[in-house]
Amino acid sequence: MTVKVRFAPSPTGHIHIGNTRMAVLNWLFAKQQGGVFVLRSDDTDVARSTKQYEDDIATDLAWLGLKHDEFFRQSERFEVYDAVAENLKSMGRLYACYETAEELDLRRKVLQSQGKPPVYDRAGLRLTDEQKAEYESQGRKPHWRFLLNEETITWNDLARGTQKFESGHLSDPILIREDGSYLYTLPSVVDDGDTKVTHVIRGEDHTANTAVQIQIFKALGYDIPTFAHLSLMVGPDGKGLSKRLGSLSITDLREDQNIHPMAVVSSLALLGTNVTADGSETLENLIEGVDLSGFGRA
Ligand code: GLU
Repeated sequence: MTVKVRFAPSPTGHIHIGNTRMAVLNWLFAKQQGGVFVLRSDDTDVARSTKQYEDDIATDLAWLGLKHDEFFRQSERFEVYDAVAENLKSMGRLYACYETAEELDLRRKVLQSQGKPPVYDRAGLRLTDEQKAEYESQGRKPHWRFLLNEETITWNDLARGTQKFESGHLSDPILIREDGSYLYTLPSVVDDGDTKVTHVIRGEDHTANTAVQIQIFKALGYDIPTFAHLSLMVGPDGKGLSKRLGSLSITDLREDQNIHPMAVVSSLALLGTNVTADGSETLENLIEGVDLSGFGRA
């Protein structure tokens, strides 16, 4: 089995040191395992994605020396996602819902005020064809939710050990918005499945997504990749780094002539380990030393 990993930024901004750390670790892991490093442009949000950001990300990664072996854009695969969505509908795993954001918000608040978890009540699943036609005649368009199976979802996370989620505590996730656009959840599974990604290495903010995505991998008959969810870098205020807040971007570092790319790669590769970068690192010894199990949190 050839190891295949991917780095999948959305070209809606520059990559910052936090998400670049995921690129570094994916790349080092691929090289260590004799595997393939895929760069995927997660540009399903066509309104906010730009070619300029996509180019800058590619230039940033090249400057860091993180050459990719394969590249593709999600925006070139909408027909594939549409076919998969139809398939899920025919299996009864994707169902139409007509609530507005305000209605959902109100229901969540009612549940919370009763001390109950704010899980979606699956009202969409109980709608008759007449009720749906009535909504449509009012000009409402459906959004589409994935029907979770009742089970304990578990996986052995390379960084965090055994993970367990009760699907009953999760809302059926929305995969398609009412304007027909895809949220990140489904295209990511379809791409990982179709391109036979073996290891998904990403930030721990995706852990709950993984629980849902594992059920989608299963529903579509794909092999389930191995997951590693790494702890996220935080700023001095303890909050996550966000490209929209103008956190240190690789483009800024690249344009600062005094910074050597290897210094960035080694600091990011060693952050969170018990080794401190001291300038003596080489790509070879970083590749040899990368160990995803060292990045978990107790
Ligand atoms: N586009 C997603 C993100 O940047 C990708 C996450 C993933 O690696 O699955 O958060």
